[in-house]
Amino acid sequence: MQTQNQAAPGDLECVRRFINTWCIPNQTRTETDDLPLLVRDAARWREELSLHPRADSDTLEKLLALRSDLRKSCEGLDDNHAQLNAWFSRVALSVQVKSVQGAPQLAVTPADASCIAYMLAAVANATSSGTWSRLKTCGDCRWAFYDHTRNGSKRWCGMTKGGAEGRACGTIAKVSAFRARAAAKKSAKPDVD
Ligand SMILES: [Zn+2]
Repeated sequence: MQTQNQAAPGDLECVRRFINTWCIPNQTRTETDDLPLLVRDAARWREELSLHPRADSDTLEKLLALRSDLRKSCEGLDDNHAQLNAWFSRVALSVQVKSVQGAPQLAVTPADASCIAYMLAAVANATSSGTWSRLKTCGDCRWAFYDHTRNGSKRWCGMTKGGAEGRACGTIAKVSAFRARAAAKKSAKPDVD
């Protein structure tokens, strides 16, 4: 996991942080979920997630479901975008035409004060502008990062051109998986008298 140069543009950064409230830190390789804590602590929500406050309708249950579906979409597991479309159909969003450099452009805005609508509006606008597909998750640690590369080919959270850090994430995951398989093999062996 690496946090440099991974920030997404505009409101999409809140979505990236939101997806990463569930993560597998390299140091521990143990799944960690900060969302229950953030929902209870408005100050931490503001510091770690977004200046857009949580509304009463943003329940932990709904947020967990949204995070899971957004993560699926980033991981390419949302077939035909069914989960995203389901959210778009049940969350209050409105569409407006705005003038951008003299040209009319569609902009999706949240129609209520919920953070869920705020994030889904950001996802809708990112889909429209082609940036949603640049929000990706690392093939190893599953950390969500924004792909700033010119050709959009980044696969690992920490991969930088010629850098070793990105590889480290992959290497750690592979070593851990190898050890886990070796340990499983060992414990699966029947006792011989
Ligand atoms: Zn990673």
